[in-house]
Order: sequence, then structure tokens, then C-alpha cells
Amino acid sequence: MRSTMMNDQLSITDVLEHGQRWNAQREVITKTADGWRTASFAAVAENAARLANALQSLGIDGDQRVGTFMWNNQEHLEAYLAVPAMGAVLHTANMRLTPEQVAYTINAADDRVMIVDASLAELFVKVLPLLTSVHTIIVNGSVEATVFADADITVLDYHTLVDAASPQRVWTIGDERNAASICFTTGTTGNPKGVAYSHRSIVLQCLGTSTIDTLGIGNRDRMLVLVPMFHATAWCYPYTGFWSGADIVLLDEFLSPAAIIDAIQTFGITFANGVPTVWNDVLRILRAEPHHNLSSLQRVVIGGAAATTALFDGFDEVGVRIVQGWGMTETSPLVTVGRDSRGVDATTAASQRLSQGRVLAGVRIRVVDPDSGDPLPDDGRSVGELELRGPWIAGGYLGDEGSDKFHDGWLRTGDVGTIDDQGFVRLTDRAKDIIKSGGEWISSVDLENVLVAHPSIRDVTVIGVPDARWDERPCAIVVFEDGRDVDVEELRVWLVGRVARFWVPENWITTTALPRTSVGKIDKKDLRSRHAAGEFE
Ligand code: ADP
Repeated sequence: MRSTMMNDQLSITDVLEHGQRWNAQREVITKTADGWRTASFAAVAENAARLANALQSLGIDGDQRVGTFMWNNQEHLEAYLAVPAMGAVLHTANMRLTPEQVAYTINAADDRVMIVDASLAELFVKVLPLLTSVHTIIVNGSVEATVFADADITVLDYHTLVDAASPQRVWTIGDERNAASICFTTGTTGNPKGVAYSHRSIVLQCLGTSTIDTLGIGNRDRMLVLVPMFHATAWCYPYTGFWSGADIVLLDEFLSPAAIIDAIQTFGITFANGVPTVWNDVLRILRAEPHHNLSSLQRVVIGGAAATTALFDGFDEVGVRIVQGWGMTETSPLVTVGRDSRGVDATTAASQRLSQGRVLAGVRIRVVDPDSGDPLPDDGRSVGELELRGPWIAGGYLGDEGSDKFHDGWLRTGDVGTIDDQGFVRLTDRAKDIIKSGGEWISSVDLENVLVAHPSIRDVTVIGVPDARWDERPCAIVVFEDGRDVDVEELRVWLVGRVARFWVPENWITTTALPRTSVGKIDKKDLRSRHAAGEFE
């Protein structure tokens, strides 16, 4: 029997139109060099209509791709709305990749027009000669005429173009399974691979992250979007905010711990997010300058890498609640959120909060034996690779790459951990980062967690290094707080009793900073290859 319900398709067009009509006076606030600029959602939607008309006049037709090379700002949001709502596909290029990688992604996505922030123009010029499909660049902001002087390509000014275009546009709604936007993985574990999100997957992710059990984003919020809009559609926060009516605050090129604290205090931010590195830096300032008042902040969602116990404790001390989320580019990205359940004792609640979180309604998850691929029990003890299915989980990559990332209709996350009988996921490692010593697994994540709680340690990571006797042994790479170097023996003693004895590394390296990937995660791949090249000897 068929249902009697309407078959309206889920669409970014609805996000745009709903936000424009019912949240018209909500605000998008963007940081500038000397202050802030504000636009109502109505004005942003009108600019989106103008942008769509302008893109159409430039020949963007059907599902052609429009790329962005931009920070988090109002114009990027306008492109987020306009491009998918006109039926075209947005590709958010990652400016932190190398010029060769950026060009690789733009060519693979077949972008025709690129919108580029003026502050990134010099960087983009390095990418230009490598491009094969782009015919027009739209620059957001002013650049010296010399910057694009040698470019054999049409260069237009964003604001001149948008201001001249008509604000009238009749948006349409297409098949919800059509691509809305493309994001490439950051290539931490190989070449970037493209994921094309559908209108349906984005809208369902927005709903999935709005429930009270997840992030509860809604009309009462003022959200500070720190996760980059070039990566995994910034966890869909810009869409969720526009749809539900949460004000959206963006830091453009001025992302810094001081700017974050300023934004929270100036605008009474209720919801913020980001990778642990960013929030560790914020915590350091809060400790040094206790006069700051972050009491408006109801929750900070940390994801992209494991949030340490020290980070949770630190924010508890200053009265800010951290919530951990786990996800990846391929999963839109949110799939678990670490909120404690009703009616559990304090120890269980703490363990639930510290976990990667409980699986969102709508996503199916399982843990499988890494060798046989057979499902393992959800008993909180059986360790294996986590696999996912669901309407906002990628079922493939662009160009049919990466077929090894799928297993029996499930996405292989490459993350290793457990699931308990309540659906809480605890990651012990990324498959690539696992350390196997004498046949036994050592969790680099757990070691890092214990080490970073040492008062002298500012930053730490643990990688596996080859060992003649045990195959592999852990190697800790440590950055000390300024002027607080301690003997490695003290760190070994710190670990004994806190982790299994055979986990305690005999290899230690001290350094002044750890390398980061394009989205701010510690780059273990780089450290492993530098170690292999003998750089640390
Ligand atoms: P990449 O291109 O490097 O895969 P992603 O942003 O997609 O970039 O990274 C996803 C990966 O980040 C996950 O597979 C997982 O290893 C890691 N990750 C994300 N959130 C968490 C978390 N809360 N705890 C631990 N690891 C996380």
C-alpha cells in the first residue's frame, strides 16, 4: 500500500526559503579587520538570489559545479544557499591543502566558476595554472590589480556582480537525491577523495543535529561556527542555523583564541564548536585571564579528533560544558554525540560524556572483526573496526574511487573501537594509527589522554615505530609548557599505574610544536615518515 502523504522532496531550497521568510530578522555576523558586519537572513537570502542570477548569466547551468575558496563569512554562506538551491553543485575547496592537491580537487569536481576570498587570492594564484575546467573567478573583496594580471581567465568582483544582478528568483526543488555539495577528504590517510552530499543527506543531517539528544540547535541559539566551511559543510551548522533561526557568527580570516573569546562575550554565543586544538588554546587563555565571562555558552561541540579528559576537566572548571561528537567527511559528518543518559550513576555518566558518543537516531552502526569482517557484539569490550550505514552516510566516492572503504554495503570508517549496549562508541584508535606490540594492541588515544593530563605537557601524540623484538612500540612526541621541561623518567613514572605496564613507551621525543593537518588535527602520517627518515635521531 502506498502512503497518502505528499512526496515533497527535501531540499536546500527549503532551508533558504524557510530561513528567509520565517527567520528574516535573524543575523549573520562576520568579523572584519576592525569590528563586525551584520546582515539579516532576509538580506543574505536576497544576495543568494542575486548570486544565483549572476552565476546563471555566467553560464552556470544544470548541475554544473561552482567552487569556493573561502573562509567562514557571509558571502560563503550566500554561496552555500544559492548554488544548491539553483540546482548547481557547490564544491568547497580546502585552502589548507597544497596547491597541487587543491587543483586536483577542483579539476576532479569539474568546477566552472570559483568564488575566492580576496585574502586568499595570492594563494589561489598558485593553483590557477594547474586548473583545467574553471573559466571565471569571482573575487570577494578587493585585491591589487597585479594579483591576477598574468591570469588568462575572467576575473570579476563579487559585490559588483551581485549588486548588479536581480534579487528576483523563483527557486525550484529538484530530486532530493541530487548532489548539493562536494567535499574532499583531507587526505590524512591518502589522496583526497570526493564525497557528494545530496539535498536529502544535508537536510536529514540538519534535523539529526537539532534534536535535544544531540546538539539541540535551534531558534534560541546564537552559534559561533568555527569548524571551517571548506570542510564537511561545517557540520551543516550554517544550514541548520539558517533553517532553524539561530544567529550565525563567523570569524572570516581572523580565527584566533582571542577572537573566539571576544565573539562569545560580545554576542552572547550559546553554541560553539571546533577541533580540540582550538579549544585547548582558548582554555589556556581563560586560565591566564580569569576575568573573561563565558557564561552565555551552553555547549561546545568538540569533534574531528578525540577530546581529552584534561580538556573536559578544564572546561568544567570554567563552567563551560563540552560535548564530544564523532564523524567524518563521509558521514555528513555527525554520527555520535557524547551526552550522558537519564538515570545513570555519576561514574557511568562521566564515562558516557568522555566517549565519542551515542549513535544518532537514523544511523546504523556495527563493529566488525578487522580480519574476518564478521560483526562483533555491542558489549563495550569487543574491539574492531566501526562500520556505518544510513541516509547521510556516503555509499561511494566521486569517480568510483576507494571501493576498499566499503564492505558489504557498509562504510568502513577506518576507526577502531567498541560499542556498548546503549550505543555509546569509544574509539581506541584510527586503523592506520594502531600500535601492535608483540601481538597486543596499544591505544595511542588512551596514552595521549593520560600524558596530556601531566601538568608539564602542553601537547603530545603517540605513534607506532618499528621495533626488532616487538614489531612495533609506542613513541611519545611531547611538547612541554614553556619553561617546564621535565625528565622523561618522570613521564614514565606518571604512566605506570595509569596504563598497562607494556604500554609505557621507551621512545620519547621532545619538540616545540606538533605538525597539524589542513583541518588542525595532529598529523601522525607526517610524524611517522619523519621518524622513518631518521629526522628525530
Ligand atoms: P579525513 O579527511 O582526515 O578523514 P575527517 O574530518 O573526515 O578528515 O576525519 C574523520 C576522522 O577524524 C574520523 O574517522 C576519526 O578518526 C577522527 N575523529 C573525528 N571525530 C573524532 C572524535 N570525537 N574522537 C576521535 N576521533 C575523531
